[in-house]
Amino acid sequence: MRNVKNYALQLFFSWGIVCLLAMLPACALTASAQAPVPDSPQIEARARALVAKLTLEQKIELLGGVDNMFTHAAPAIDLPRLKMSDGPIGVRTWGPTTAYVGGAALAASWDPALARRIGEGLGRDARTRGVHFLLGPGVNIARSPLASRNFEYFSEDPFLAASMTVPYIEGVQSQGVIATVKHFALNNQEYNRYNVSVDVDERTMREIYLPAFEAAVTQAHVDSVMNSYNLVNGVHATQNEFLNLKVLKGDWGFQGILMSDWNATCDTVGSANYGLDLEMPGPRFMNAKTLMAAIKEGSVKESTLDDKVQRLLRTVLRYGFLDRPQFDPADSTYSVADRAVTLEAARESLTLLKNDDHLLPLDPAKVKTIAVIGPNAWPAVIGGGGSAETQAFEPVSILTGIANVAGPNVHVLYSRGLPTINDVFTGTAWKDGVQAATYPSKDFTGTPEVVSLPNIADWTEKLWHPEAMAQRSIRYTASYTPAKSGKYLVLAYSQFWGGDVYKVTVDGKQVLAYTDVDGQVPQSATLELNAGQTVQVVAEYLPGYPGVRFGLGIAYEQDLVAAEVKSFAAAADVVVVAAGFTPETEREGSDRTFELPWGQDALIEAVAAANPRTIVTLTGGGGMDTRRWLSKVPALLHAYYPGQEGGTAVGEVLFGKHNPEGKLPVSFDRNWEENPSFAYYYPIKGAETTLHVVEGDKPPVDSVVPHVKYGDKLMVGYRYWTSTGKHPLFPFGFGLSYSTFSFSKLEVPASAASGSTVPVSFSVTNTSHVAGAEVAQLYISDPSAKVNRPERELKGFEKVRLAPGATKHVTLKLDARAFSYWDEAAHKWAIDPGKFVIRVGNSSENTPLQADLTLK
Ligand code: BGC
Repeated sequence: MRNVKNYALQLFFSWGIVCLLAMLPACALTASAQAPVPDSPQIEARARALVAKLTLEQKIELLGGVDNMFTHAAPAIDLPRLKMSDGPIGVRTWGPTTAYVGGAALAASWDPALARRIGEGLGRDARTRGVHFLLGPGVNIARSPLASRNFEYFSEDPFLAASMTVPYIEGVQSQGVIATVKHFALNNQEYNRYNVSVDVDERTMREIYLPAFEAAVTQAHVDSVMNSYNLVNGVHATQNEFLNLKVLKGDWGFQGILMSDWNATCDTVGSANYGLDLEMPGPRFMNAKTLMAAIKEGSVKESTLDDKVQRLLRTVLRYGFLDRPQFDPADSTYSVADRAVTLEAARESLTLLKNDDHLLPLDPAKVKTIAVIGPNAWPAVIGGGGSAETQAFEPVSILTGIANVAGPNVHVLYSRGLPTINDVFTGTAWKDGVQAATYPSKDFTGTPEVVSLPNIADWTEKLWHPEAMAQRSIRYTASYTPAKSGKYLVLAYSQFWGGDVYKVTVDGKQVLAYTDVDGQVPQSATLELNAGQTVQVVAEYLPGYPGVRFGLGIAYEQDLVAAEVKSFAAAADVVVVAAGFTPETEREGSDRTFELPWGQDALIEAVAAANPRTIVTLTGGGGMDTRRWLSKVPALLHAYYPGQEGGTAVGEVLFGKHNPEGKLPVSFDRNWEENPSFAYYYPIKGAETTLHVVEGDKPPVDSVVPHVKYGDKLMVGYRYWTSTGKHPLFPFGFGLSYSTFSFSKLEVPASAASGSTVPVSFSVTNTSHVAGAEVAQLYISDPSAKVNRPERELKGFEKVRLAPGATKHVTLKLDARAFSYWDEAAHKWAIDPGKFVIRVGNSSENTPLQADLTLK
């Protein structure tokens, strides 16, 4: 619904402006990039004068959005309504767009100049749609691989995240479009995202979770910030005095607009007084009724509201929105140049993690037949799901990309390899069918209406329909007799939003459970069953408000693998299995699993058993479980979400037309349990608190707040691994190349004054016969600090492109902040003079160069 409505509005809005422009002289049509001018006393005075022309009601109207993606117009001061579009990896709200690589992929390029070009492309694309605000970049830290929005975000490391954030924002804003850095702050999980309080100490916030936001404000001068849904230390982000007033507007001096995430606001007086400037998508809490009353009773001052309007108008004036059309007819939403940029980004990000016996690159002259198998081979999987999901004009799948690059002389065999989820539901041979008992209550009481069904696939027919279903409960009862002994997949699906709840038992034992807060979708479990031994399956399902949407099936795991897979794999010279996540399985609003989606492990095992020359490509926002098959496949390529041109880049890397150069922006764990956040990821049981939520004149609602305690503190990702001396499967910063490189000639001054900028220089040499790129990474250790610091912290990097045999001498500069930690007692950054260790290499674990430095 939302999209249909937006599209109609877009047509109306765009055509309205086109018609208006047609009446202007031709020169007015040559709008082009107009970066914002800096703030000045003149702008401040003009903004103040405009504020003074508005009545209190008119000012309040500007504090809440309208029509989902707009601010209100103020005709009294000729202010048009301002249009927004979701990002961060395409201008996704208003029709098809250039779909760039996801944030994790961009970070894997370790190329800030590329981030700048993508930012510029996004800005141009936004202008061609009259968009004033781009809702991106997303810069939260990838603390856990389960957090389903990691694909939008950059990295587990604050320095790498900030290094991508700044040029991205500068690029967008250089085109006269406001970038919106989000989600401020500590949105590091999707599990129960509306309710959880992230409880974290200030040092951890300042050193890990805030630097990318800080850089956005203090270095890139971002003009808009979006608060997150979650609470921080017990207070909603949208009314968090510490985050919004002390840190953002105080310490960092943010002068722009702080908007809420969509429906993240929870209180009128709290948001008004503690920093929120714009409530999106509409004024549930900051509206005329509530704010007038608050002003009357003295709980909110009119000057506080004036400051919010001043922020909006200051920004509007700096961007010239009162003086020029935002719609820029000089560009087009379809851009060949931007396609080239997104292809370049995919090439730079693909990360080769394993390449035994130099299986790659493939020689097209020697490969007669290639089999491309797997659910992620076709259609193209360009990004994850949710508000960042883009519709690309012509996405290139891995299948198409490989076929195009291989050329007409290579025979390509294709199989999806696995059934669709609906095939599993409809293909389950229940013994004697299914009894579905629908009760007229939410708790299986009352007289049920019982029907017999051939299978449990209620999810296609009844979607969006009978609203009354939300008042019902349904119990599905069935028996299943396994034909063979072995591993069986139990697979269930319901809508991930809308309040659905279900649980599935097999012979009385719960095997699956789903609530809308821990809703990984679909849910699956593997059971060992015995041939001929019938099991009783019961699913109890409470439909949410859009009606019934539930499916359940059982399948013998090996039978999931399509019949042709073995013969295709055996017949091919080499096989590519395209596995990983999709917008359905990794998306905003629910966490994902660490395991690959159902059936994929079995598929990879089956292919590898039929052909040892098997290459696996993975799609997903971070690490995932490779344990069942990694030792059986010689090559592994991580594609993250590679954008609309990803398939071409994969083909080019596999056939050596492009030398892989991506480096992991996150540590890649073996299993979820070894991730440092594992013990601290879910809320502490019994530690809930209660908040009173008051919406306008409605009765107050008690909202229960579960608390997640970030006990892992600074030990995020490689900080943990390098401090404990343990090793993940693949370390942060790691990625293979077809070239080899060496590092030499490290030069670090023996001592320097504390607070000064310290140059560090070294040489990188391409020691191979292939041109390629290496990412030189600089980590520091602070063994003489008075506080415990992580063993290694990334403080500089540079990507170098080198011809065979060539050497580049690189100089990186370490400023005072690079040596600092957050002093909890003094509430400021501090450097403890003494010994520091400087290490340089090509991953967090491989640092061949090392030198000591003493700060005096
Ligand atoms: C997301 C934001 C997004 C907004 C508008 C929310 O659900 O969290 O990132 O910008 O929707 O679509």
